[in-house]
Amino acid sequence: MEDYQIPFSFAQIRCKFFGHLFKISKNVTDHLHEYKCEHCGLEMTDTANGILARLTPKYRETNDYISQIHKRRKRRLLKNAS
Ligand SMILES: [Zn+2]
Repeated sequence: MEDYQIPFSFAQIRCKFFGHLFKISKNVTDHLHEYKCEHCGLEMTDTANGILARLTPKYRETNDYISQIHKRRKRRLLKNAS
């Protein structure tokens, strides 16, 4: 039986009281972003419904997929323009 130690994080306590300080960590598209809290590292994402949700592995996967499509579309638009 392993002895688990729960790491004490002052940042997490601070976020609980004062709220998170989110900075954009990734631009999925021009309107869809991933955010990361500068203090505790909590990650959030814009969703298709326009709400902010906890960045779960599922959301990350979806965002990667959307990001790829978005990039491809952008490249195609550039090609057509030239
Ligand atoms: Zn935080």
